[in-house]
Amino acid sequence: MGSAVNVFTMLDQAATRYPDGGALYRGETRVATWRELRDRALRLAASIRGAAEPGTRIAVASENRTEIVELMFGIWAAGCVFVPLNFKLHPREMAEILEDCAAATVFASPKIGAELAPHTDVHLEILDTAAYRDRFEAAPQPPADVDPAALAWLFYTSGTTGRSKGAMLSHRNLTAMTVAHLADIDDPDHGCALVHAAPMSHGSGLYIPAYVLRGARQVVPASGAFDADEFLDLCAAHPGSAAFLAPTMVQRLVDTGRGAPANLRTIVYGGGPMYVESLKQAMAAFGPIFAQIYGQGESPMTITGLRRDDHQSGDDAVLGSVGAARSGVEVAVLAEDGTRAAPHEIGEIVCRGDVVMAGYWNNPAATAEALAGGWLHTGDLGSFDDRGYLTLRDRSKDVVISGGSNIYPREVEEVLLEHPAVREACIVGAPDPEWGEVVVAFIVGEVDQTTLDAHLLERIARFKRPKRYLFVDDLPKNSYGKVLKRELRAQLA
Ligand code: AMP
Repeated sequence: MGSAVNVFTMLDQAATRYPDGGALYRGETRVATWRELRDRALRLAASIRGAAEPGTRIAVASENRTEIVELMFGIWAAGCVFVPLNFKLHPREMAEILEDCAAATVFASPKIGAELAPHTDVHLEILDTAAYRDRFEAAPQPPADVDPAALAWLFYTSGTTGRSKGAMLSHRNLTAMTVAHLADIDDPDHGCALVHAAPMSHGSGLYIPAYVLRGARQVVPASGAFDADEFLDLCAAHPGSAAFLAPTMVQRLVDTGRGAPANLRTIVYGGGPMYVESLKQAMAAFGPIFAQIYGQGESPMTITGLRRDDHQSGDDAVLGSVGAARSGVEVAVLAEDGTRAAPHEIGEIVCRGDVVMAGYWNNPAATAEALAGGWLHTGDLGSFDDRGYLTLRDRSKDVVISGGSNIYPREVEEVLLEHPAVREACIVGAPDPEWGEVVVAFIVGEVDQTTLDAHLLERIARFKRPKRYLFVDDLPKNSYGKVLKRELRAQLA
């Protein structure tokens, strides 16, 4: 019990230590000092508490904007639950989430609010209006006491496998995530910055507490989205810049042909596979600034990590891995009979620790399945090596079983991408009367089948080679940039 673990405390500590330091920036323009940001969050909290009990879900639907930071901490100071919506969702999908969590209010940017209004009955408050500005007239109140297990963030998963589910993250979960980030991945101080390139509703937003705790400024691009040139300019303008990026965003930085801006200190990537070839190109362009995380909404940003030093090992097996178990997290690979798999044996990745969610909102059946036996079952397949590096194979449902042999798409994709003419590659299984399934490759790039066949023959076992190649202009991706394999499979069916 007690208030010490309210994540709001992290902002309070920064404001006490660095009251006049720059806290929040829109592009290069300072919007608030730490003292001002704390004051705004406490005023917001007072206005929210006037109308909402502790535990009330309050949603935020917006492109990346500076207000998200004050809302997040204001909602926590009020003892309420922050429910950010990915702004790239269809308004109907947003409305489903609002209904699922019975949100009391949704704060929205003018653009998203206008799209959302016809689809929901939930009280909508547009940022930029008098109603929002009036909230800051409320006198600041001390933050609410919360139980460490109280819900802080309802994190709706990207739903690549079906309908989005709300992972319930407590103040304790977010504290464990924050401490592990500072222990394993990055070591910012008050002379540093977190630049929000990825959506603040997800990965980039989850990193806010860690950088706030250290007094590192929060920088929100003026465009509210990811533009590679804008991002690199901001990293040049702000000292000690760090950012969380999806692998496809890292690729877009490389594609600019620009080198590393002077102030770019750390890029953390994750959320989807980073192929070894792409990683090498990125390191050649930007230097030794990379760290990788493997996580999922259910264990936010924190299952394993590949540290900065690991990237210098010169070992492709290490570069192709997702690193080692994170501080405070136990990670295991389970064989089919539920016992621990030996090194190099592939099985389901499970984890446990203070970072793991309490369950899914309003969904006991899915919770029981995900948390069976006291472990979070990630649905990802992988194997450890003798040194404790975990290599992800694929999501269990993505493995192709052809003639009784398991073929792991990622392995074939890695090799295809080594061919200089291949820009993107995706492997899926197609139903086949003779083999059960056959391997099919979707390729983006100026290349033909004969060339790729010859390339693979020199590098991997014959049975892993695609039986069919489909050359396409682009791959279907969801709003997080993850390739939608189910759509590719549907095209083949
Ligand atoms: P989400 O809950 O939407 O963040 O999706 C989590 C899933 O993304 C994980 O279960 C993995 O399948 C995938 N993922 C996350 N991080 C990585 C990574 N570093 N490399 C490969 N796949 C990843």
